[in-house]
Amino acid sequence: MYIVLLGPPGSGKGTQAEVLSKAFDIGHLSTGDLLRDILENKDHPLYPKVQVIKEGRLVSDEVVNQVVEDGLDKPKFKNGAIFDGYPRTPAQAAALDRMLAAQGQKIDVVIDLDVTRDVLIYRLLGRLVCPRCKRIFHKRYGLTECPDCGIELVRRGDDNEETILKRFEEYKDKTAVLQDYYKNSPAVYIRLEISDASRTAEDVQEEITERLRQHDVI
Ligand code: ADP
Repeated sequence: MYIVLLGPPGSGKGTQAEVLSKAFDIGHLSTGDLLRDILENKDHPLYPKVQVIKEGRLVSDEVVNQVVEDGLDKPKFKNGAIFDGYPRTPAQAAALDRMLAAQGQKIDVVIDLDVTRDVLIYRLLGRLVCPRCKRIFHKRYGLTECPDCGIELVRRGDDNEETILKRFEEYKDKTAVLQDYYKNSPAVYIRLEISDASRTAEDVQEEITERLRQHDVI
């Protein structure tokens, strides 16, 4: 099973991807996480090419496609993958289709998390991440340490208002066209509208499950 999650920064892709990857026993592939790992490793050959992340800009299609193709070879993707933060451009979507076609596979489901701008800003300014397991929390819950790893939660360097707005604009400019790309593809397309900041991840998860049932995916 191959699932693509669409949605602007802060739409909850990472959180939903974790749950879905366990439910379907497929790997969670977050290009943001893979690229940030490269950013922490000065010796990595792609290190200079991922520096644009710090400005809230997109890494080039060529670099990201390479990172995904290499990543998909890992055993955790043997049953499939849930893509979080990828593809972000039509060129990436086409590259992904080619990578999967080469293995006789295709994207089965697209889940589009359509979250309003106000909800996004509220979430991202309060976002805390565990540096080890990458789990995401909101500061309104008052946690300072990851309950699983016991290490201090941190804010991401690119979670400031200026960068958030730039990422949102970039998403609208480049990624929104992917909605049409996938609506015109054979994949099951599920769109969820999220305009209420108090809506929990569990709530959204339940709606996703319900919609997957309606489409006979589960
Ligand atoms: P967010 O979606 O919250 O911005 P991500 O973790 O998905 O966070 O991505 C962080 C940054 O990594 C992006 O702003 C971008 O610079 C880079 N990035 C991640 N995925 C891609 C991608 N598919 N194509 C290009 N750049 C990417």
